[in-house]
Amino acid sequence: MTAAQVPAGPPGPVDFLLSGIGQLVTCDPALGEGPLGVVERAAVAAAGGRVVYAGPERAMPDLEMAGDVHAFGAGGNAVVPGFVDAHTHLVFAGERADEFAARLRGVGYEEALAAGGGINRTVRDTRAATDAELRRATLDRLGLAVAYGTTTLEAKSGYGLTVTDERRSLEALAWAAEHSPVEVVPTFLGAHLIPEEFADDRDGYLELLEHEMLPACAPLATFVDAFCDRGALTVAESRRVLQAGARHGLRGKLHANELGSTGGAALAAELGCVSADHLLFLDDAEAKALACAGTVAVLLPGTSFLLRTGRAAPVEVLREAGVILALGTDCNPGTCYCESMQLVIALACVHGGLTPEEAVLAATDGAARAVGRGGQVGRLSPGAACDLVLLAGRSYLDLAYHLGVNLAGAVVKGGTVVKGGTVAAGERA
Ligand SMILES: [Zn+2]
Repeated sequence: MTAAQVPAGPPGPVDFLLSGIGQLVTCDPALGEGPLGVVERAAVAAAGGRVVYAGPERAMPDLEMAGDVHAFGAGGNAVVPGFVDAHTHLVFAGERADEFAARLRGVGYEEALAAGGGINRTVRDTRAATDAELRRATLDRLGLAVAYGTTTLEAKSGYGLTVTDERRSLEALAWAAEHSPVEVVPTFLGAHLIPEEFADDRDGYLELLEHEMLPACAPLATFVDAFCDRGALTVAESRRVLQAGARHGLRGKLHANELGSTGGAALAAELGCVSADHLLFLDDAEAKALACAGTVAVLLPGTSFLLRTGRAAPVEVLREAGVILALGTDCNPGTCYCESMQLVIALACVHGGLTPEEAVLAATDGAARAVGRGGQVGRLSPGAACDLVLLAGRSYLDLAYHLGVNLAGAVVKGGTVVKGGTVAAGERA
């Protein structure tokens, strides 16, 4: 679904009721204990897709029920808000499992890129794919995301890198979003890389991006992004792209400080980007600048884990500066082929140094802020979308602790069960 399809208007009678929740994670500290706003023995009621009550079951007011209310029992299990994946590259054709295997044998990422692999290879495969292939591949990945509990997801273009193919990628994404319950936030990433054919004319590519690609793509996107790093775009080139995007009404995001201290984080803060993503190299001053600008740090622990860099974003530095944290899968064919936010939460804890509470908050409320949907999704408080995951477990801690299995017993988007509806249907706990 696209943001425009999200139900709006005043709530009517309650048409969704989930009771018997052993542990409810609201991600609204005003509603319960601790930073996650945890409520024991809870219920969630919704009308027209939005939450009207989330709290102790015994304190639920006498709400008007619709005649066809969908009432479920959680059987004492835990419920968390639907996951928000703040950073994906879902629209691509072709896979790169052989490069992954080569990396395990010691070939570096930048080495593979220089040998014609990496992003350039996926660009060739994506350009060669038919519209139908691109749409189907994108929809299949959205299907996996929702099966693992993701209900809102940011997705970027960036494997087309021509006017036609960037536009085609965003059209494939819009088509897949229409055919999926996942709410998709689209980002234009024509500045993923300077494509091979412009290797000797970087300025020529940026001219094309600014004057032809952006006008063609901006109507299909919410954000503009650039890969500001070694081997990709410079700070000056990234600034040009984000400023051009802003003239087309697109808010900024930035791939920053992944491969080195290359100035991307400072640029994201300077331009007031909604998010700066990766941030494996970050000093105190850069973190403070992000906090002051209100720029959310999107951490992608799956990528650093799979690249075996031995490096994670410096969580203490981010914490100390008070930067809002978000998580994303970075789902892409090269460095992290993964649609599961559950695995990302586990990696954020065991590899990235976050506490389970920080990781769950970053995968829901924090990620919602990183995609411009703060307060509307990623938390279960009155007025927010009724997007939730009924876990096959008693505690949110299972997301970090019970590794590598799918704990999404049921998934609800906008008050509609989109996975596992028969598990507990009809039970009133
Ligand atoms: Zn990325």
